[in-house]
Parts: sequence; structure tokens; C-alpha cells
Amino acid sequence: MDSSIDLLRIFSEVGGPSGYESRVREIVVSKFIPIARSVETDQMGSVIANLGGLEGSPKVMISAHMDEVGLMVKNVTEEGYIKFQQLGGWLDQAIVNQRWVILNDKKDVFGVTGIKTVHVMSPEERKKIFDAKELFIDVGAPTKEYVENELGISPGDPIVPFSPFSVLNDGELLLGKAWDDRAGLALMIKVVQEIESSKSDKVNLLFAVATVQEEVGLRGATTSSYMVNPDIGINLEAGVAGDFPGITTDESQERIGMGPTIFLHDSSMIPNIKLRDFVKDVAQKKGIPLQFNVLTGYGQDGSALQRSREGTPTINIAIPTRYLHSHNSVISYKDFEQAVSLVRSLVEGLDSKTVEYIKKF
Ligand SMILES: [Zn+2]
Repeated sequence: MDSSIDLLRIFSEVGGPSGYESRVREIVVSKFIPIARSVETDQMGSVIANLGGLEGSPKVMISAHMDEVGLMVKNVTEEGYIKFQQLGGWLDQAIVNQRWVILNDKKDVFGVTGIKTVHVMSPEERKKIFDAKELFIDVGAPTKEYVENELGISPGDPIVPFSPFSVLNDGELLLGKAWDDRAGLALMIKVVQEIESSKSDKVNLLFAVATVQEEVGLRGATTSSYMVNPDIGINLEAGVAGDFPGITTDESQERIGMGPTIFLHDSSMIPNIKLRDFVKDVAQKKGIPLQFNVLTGYGQDGSALQRSREGTPTINIAIPTRYLHSHNSVISYKDFEQAVSLVRSLVEGLDSKTVEYIKKF
């Protein structure tokens, strides 16, 4: 079984923006193969692992998305600068003056979103917010021909933040890119690895699904949940920590280090009430701290799962995360470990009787 830190580091550092998840998928498949009965992909590229279980019992689907927010090459200027399309929701300000890697079949190419120096700016210009349309990536190449022929870069090549994994405060907090949703992905892998190595009797049929293209509209969750057709859905995400200067509890109520969170509301989903209460009960019985968040924005895969076919009772469980959708996000190791215990306990508690109760209105 992998250590949590190893899983988190590997998944944070691997590059895979929406639509270009192949490198992430390769790792996910390698983790599922030794423990799953079957590992398949749907026709969009989401990975579906059938972990087996009790014959004739309900299907429980846990899911997390593989993609991260990134960019893709749009065109190359005559001077050799890369213009790009955003993949997923970026603040323009988070794109400026950062390092990037262009993922390319030939070789990975480093670059920087250059920024005009303060020395040449008027006082008015200094106050101006950067517009993403004006931004470009400098890969150090002299001409368009060099970029295309020597570096092998062409329109459509995916681009991801360059941001090595680091630990803060002796490993209490973990700094890296892509915690949305690689924290959820690592959590899902860790949960199934623990369940499989415990060899305890399963009470349901377990499916673990790593989805594609969440950041551009929950696309992989739509097709993969149709394929699995589950009785219960548990989606695993990066939450929104509201515990640093400039963010208010009105905007977000969860805090780092205070345990996993359930979303009671986001712009895409209201969870099934009986499933919500089941999660609360399990957390209380196991002594796992649980937080609640009521968000105005945010959309997540759970909503696609919830609305699949005739509907599925679904909940979204999140690991509180600071500074989402940027090069540098922060999570707590303790929250991660508590989320593993919580999700594992939920899966182990969803027997036929409980699922039947949850599904009944
Ligand atoms: Zn996400």
C-alpha cells in the first residue's frame, strides 16, 4: 500500500489539465490494477474500477476527478511567444508571471508568463489589473519556426503549472499545485487500498471512478456515472478553506486542520438529506471531526452523478484547501487522514438495509 504522502506528492506533480488526463490516468490505472476485479474506461476516458463485493448488494460509487485547471496552446506569434486558451476557471491574476510546463510528445518545455516591468509603467498602469488576453508564455525561443520545428510545439498542446510539492510546518500542511482534485483522487486511491488490504467482508458492490474534464463542466462524471449506474454516490473534492486574510465565513465556512467537510449547498447540488445524516452519524460514531460548508458558487461532479439516469442519492466530501485554482494550494495532512477514515467508514457502512433506507422517499 502507498503512503499518503507519496500518493499526494505523485498526484500533485503529475500534469493533466482537462481533456489531457493521460498521464494521470496511467498512474490511476496502475494503482487500480493490483486490487480491482476489472479496470475499464468509458468513451471519454474516465477510469472505472470495479472492486467487487457482496453479490446482489447495492452499488456504491466513489469518484474524484483527474483533471486540473491548465491552459492549452492556441497559436505561436512570429516572435516565438505562445498564446493560450484557459482550461477551467482561472483568475487572470493567478496566471501572470508564473512558470509553466508545455506537455509535449517530443519533450516537456518550460516557460513563463512574462510581465512588463514597473520601471516603464505610468502610475495609472501600475494599478491596472492584467487581462488574460494580453498574456503569453515565453519559452525562450527566438522565432515561431523554432518553437514549431525545434521544440515541437503545436496548437492544442496542454500546459500545466510548474509547482513542485513542498511541506510546510514539518509536514502538517502540504503545498502544491492541483489539490483540486488530486487531493480527492489520492483520497479515493488510499481508501480503496485500505479496504482491499483489510480483507474484511464487503457489504456492497464498490466502484471507484476517476473522472475526466470536471473543470470544464463535469463532463466525465456524466458519462461514467451512466455506465456504473450506482445506488449511492460519494464524490471527493478539494474544499474551499475560508481561514486566511481576505476571505470571510460568509463566503466559506470550512477551515484547514478541522477535518473533512460536507457541502450542504453549492451552485450545482444539494445533497440527499438521508445520506447527509448518515455521514454525520458515521463521523460522530467514529470520532471524526466533520465540517459543513454552504457555498454560493462551485460546481462539482457529485451533481452529475446525482442527476444521472433516474437520480442517485449523492454527497460531496471535501478536503479543505486554500488558494484553489492557482499554482500553489495548501491542504492539511491531518484532514486528509481523517477524510480517509471517514470515507472508508461510509463505504463499509452502506449495506443493503442502509442504502434501501436512504433511497426511499
Ligand atoms: Zn474539483
